[in-house]
Amino acid sequence: MSRDPDCVFCKIVAGEIPSTRVLETDRAIAFMDVNPIVPGHVLLVPRDHHVQLADLPDELAAHLGSLLPRLIRGVVAATEALGSNVVVNGGRVAGQVVDHCHWHVIPRRSDDVIRWPWPQGVYSGDAMAQWAAEIIAAMA
Ligand code: AMP
Ligand code: ZN
Repeated sequence: MSRDPDCVFCKIVAGEIPSTRVLETDRAIAFMDVNPIVPGHVLLVPRDHHVQLADLPDELAAHLGSLLPRLIRGVVAATEALGSNVVVNGGRVAGQVVDHCHWHVIPRRSDDVIRWPWPQGVYSGDAMAQWAAEIIAAMA
């Protein structure tokens, strides 16, 4: 079990900081976000300390991903929401504050405080294909 002694979510996993849990497995827990965007906002985290989603071993990422449909169904049903957002912030630039990988599961209603969509851009020429080639090369 990998752990960072200064990490708030590692302390929650260990029971050293209280949390209100809604789901637990041998490798993951989900608990209520203490400062929710909207009521019912839940966080899903691996028990092991990994900073970003990109750092997770494939099998652990697959396990956490396998829990999401049930968690989303529970959050949406309990809050009588009309939909949901599932968000993972990666790095400070993307809004990550707690450096222990986590999925936000957020129930959505048409009259809530969250604004979507993000602005959408366009590619010119063959820029999209060039970016795709760069990404494929980077994954090789
Ligand atoms: P992020 O900005 O993606 O790193 O999100 C971190 C989230 O963790 C925020 O939504 C916080 O409200 C939440 N959070 C921080 N500390 C706690 C805690 N002790 N218990 C529950 N949620 C927390
Ligand atoms: Zn941690």
